[in-house]
Amino acid sequence: MPATDLIAAIATPPGRGGVGIVRVSGSDPSRLIDGIVGLALKPRVATRARFHGAHGEVLDEGLALLFPAPASYTGETVLELHGHGGPAVLGVIVRRCLELGARLADPGEFTKRAFLNDKIDLAQAEAVADLIDAATATAARAAVRSLSGEFSREVEAIVAALIELRMLTEATLDFPDEDVEFMRAADARGRLSALRERLAAVAARARQGSLLREGLDVVIVGPPNVGKSSLLNRLVGEEVAIVTPIAGTTRDAIRSNIEIRGIPLRVIDTAGLRHAADEVEKIGIERTWMAIERADLALVIGDAREPQLPKEHSLVAELPSVLPRIMVHNKIDLAGETPRQTTHDGVRGVWLSAKTGAGVALLEDAILDIAGAHEDMEGTFLARERHLQALVAAHAHLAAAAEYLDAEQPPLELVAEELREAQGALSRITGEFSADDLLGEIFSRFCIGK
Ligand code: GDP
Repeated sequence: MPATDLIAAIATPPGRGGVGIVRVSGSDPSRLIDGIVGLALKPRVATRARFHGAHGEVLDEGLALLFPAPASYTGETVLELHGHGGPAVLGVIVRRCLELGARLADPGEFTKRAFLNDKIDLAQAEAVADLIDAATATAARAAVRSLSGEFSREVEAIVAALIELRMLTEATLDFPDEDVEFMRAADARGRLSALRERLAAVAARARQGSLLREGLDVVIVGPPNVGKSSLLNRLVGEEVAIVTPIAGTTRDAIRSNIEIRGIPLRVIDTAGLRHAADEVEKIGIERTWMAIERADLALVIGDAREPQLPKEHSLVAELPSVLPRIMVHNKIDLAGETPRQTTHDGVRGVWLSAKTGAGVALLEDAILDIAGAHEDMEGTFLARERHLQALVAAHAHLAAAAEYLDAEQPPLELVAEELREAQGALSRITGEFSADDLLGEIFSRFCIGK
């Protein structure tokens, strides 16, 4: 392993806490350890220590932990100084590390070094960030699954089968004996279709994971007093979920984060859309419309006692026509209706009561169904858009290869080329063939200290 410089950063989140950790990684932190701790540290044993400044003064005291290379997170020698968790004291310790030759770590640099030292692959490195950012317990479990390499192993198994198929094709190319070609090509077809099935299965699990990660943007619209806020509260209350009205200045579209069976939903509030008094509110309205343009689903709320939404409520007509919607007929307790799902002119309807809760589960079913969520999200990988694109690209190349293979005289050169492209796309997921700029892009999105 080439010698690397020392990087240092606060590894715990900003703010005050019982314990705060400064992490240092590099080829040789011995001078830094002498200068700060002044004790010989046993590998992987917590040693009580005082942390010293340049003039021997005590900056803090806590625990020092040494992980000699290569058995560490980064694969380099890592030192952790566990002190008290205040921003000022941790800042002082980091500055002391810088005095002793370390430099401040770039965002994600610890994880990047772990990747460069083959401790983890690229999909796992991304899972580290996703696990930290996971907003729901289901998303966190999916991230752990990716982090433990389950996703990478699936992808690698497909790559391995793909390589075999490429070898078969290229061998046939090299020995264009008629019989050999015929027999092999027939076998290649079967293998290729098995490969495509397997890839489709992984892609389906990854798409589910992407849903967990990205969630859904939902718009609630309807005339005043039909029960929009009651319904929102009901959805929130039932799931005892995270409710964080995203700190609103009037300039932003106001959203609430809720969670339905593990899927994060961002609900866009349209309450203010009709009363633009001043300039600031106008800007707010514009933002809300922009949010609506990008939304995944609209819940149109009406009163179950009214057959139709009042005509003057034109907001519904202004929704983008491609936006999927669910018509919610609320207040069935007053209308004497039963909770149920209906379809009217191709639009789903759900009859419910926000007040009693009857039928709310049917609405949740309908939302998750439109989102394409499965009953069981447990097998999913927390995939990113980048992974989905790679899977889609690989899938397209395999489809093209299959089409060539089906020809009377299969153009084997083209088959081979498509298979090669498919392998390239898949290998980008785990980072085998990744360009430097991709690496830079991925790791720069981490916070410092990861
Ligand atoms: P919004 O203006 O659309 O947000 O409507 P609200 O949620 O503020 O509800 C307006 C009124 O209708 C309130 O008094 C609610 O208690 C009442 N309400 C909402 N949903 C129901 C329902 O399902 N049944 C009954 N009986 N009343 C409801």
